[in-house]
Amino acid sequence: MARLQSQVRMKDVLRDYFTGLASPLAWCTSVGPAELLRALGFQVYFPENHGAMLGASRAAHKHIPRANNEGYSNEICSYLTSDIGAWLNRETPLTAAYGLPSVPRPDLIVFNTNQCREVAEWFNYFGRQFSCPVVGVYPPRHVEEVTRADVDNVVSQFRNLIAVGEQIIGRELDPQRLREAVRLSREASQLWKELLETARTHPAPLTFFDGTILMAPVVMLRGTEACVEFYRAARAELQALAAHGDAAVPGEQARLYWEGMPIWGRLRSLAEIFSGCRSSVVASTYCNSWVFDDFDSDNPLESLAIAYTQIFINRGENFKLSYLKRMIEDYAIDGMLFHDSKTCFNNSNNRFGLPQRLQQETGISTLVIDGDLNDLRFFSDERARTKIETFVEQLSARAV
Ligand code: SF4
Repeated sequence: MARLQSQVRMKDVLRDYFTGLASPLAWCTSVGPAELLRALGFQVYFPENHGAMLGASRAAHKHIPRANNEGYSNEICSYLTSDIGAWLNRETPLTAAYGLPSVPRPDLIVFNTNQCREVAEWFNYFGRQFSCPVVGVYPPRHVEEVTRADVDNVVSQFRNLIAVGEQIIGRELDPQRLREAVRLSREASQLWKELLETARTHPAPLTFFDGTILMAPVVMLRGTEACVEFYRAARAELQALAAHGDAAVPGEQARLYWEGMPIWGRLRSLAEIFSGCRSSVVASTYCNSWVFDDFDSDNPLESLAIAYTQIFINRGENFKLSYLKRMIEDYAIDGMLFHDSKTCFNNSNNRFGLPQRLQQETGISTLVIDGDLNDLRFFSDERARTKIETFVEQLSARAV
């Protein structure tokens, strides 16, 4: 049984969303400009969420080899290979969950390489499959700070996207509708942020594993009233739990941070391992990636350009180091976990010495967990359990 009422309510929100998907419909990357598409009049579908569903339902292993046979390597993004493989196998978890016969047909496909190049290959594949227009937004990558020139560059690409969208929809973008979509997106994002911040309380009322479930609406429904309503109630629930001292992990002793992708097929078992050693994963870069402080309905295009270009995954190592140091302070973190996700080097931040620099500058203990977002052949339950239990024991010994 779900511990949080919000997890139960979310099922209805997602059912309404998926069963309501209809043309005109755009596919969009998860940190792409969904607000622009909504303001143009598109419904928006997110293939990365579908990839995560394939991982969480442990169906990915059936589909990845099929994509490999099409020439999509074993070593590239397993969202991509799961999703393309599922398409080729004519299967989708949306059928069992929501009665959808297949993924919804797009009228427009939009990606933003702010997160990785892989989305371009993935979304272009489906552009060819559906003979559908594809628009890519290519912002500057790995920036330490976002400059005026960067913003102008991205805004001009957004204007190109708007022109294509207007042609498909058959009318001009209504500026008021765009302001409203950005306003709703900002409100949902702020509520999501405040919900996550309840985990600053000792003990934390929610963990990273709860967050990976509760984040679905802020990914898929940004820019809608339904999203705002959901998080208003969810934040209230978490704030009440925090005020009553309700612990997500009873007897919380160690507070940990998860850096990197979730391991979708092992959320529950990992949550149990951490809970079993009274450690709570109280914060993560991943869940915080849908906090967009810079959305501004008075300046919609520029603020979308700023917010989507300065996401963590698109930043330089200096920014990442300072961000993680801030999170350690804000959440009173005892130890940092870096997930080395074998098919997503973009979101594996242990490979260029970041854990070591963090350790040197803050004294924090770090642990690298080998795994993958969807491809469980890269994950060993036993090895992960042993590493985590040993790490938490060492943290406890340090604390004595
Ligand atoms: S960021 Fe990683 S997981 Fe996400 S689409 Fe890109 S390669 Fe895949």
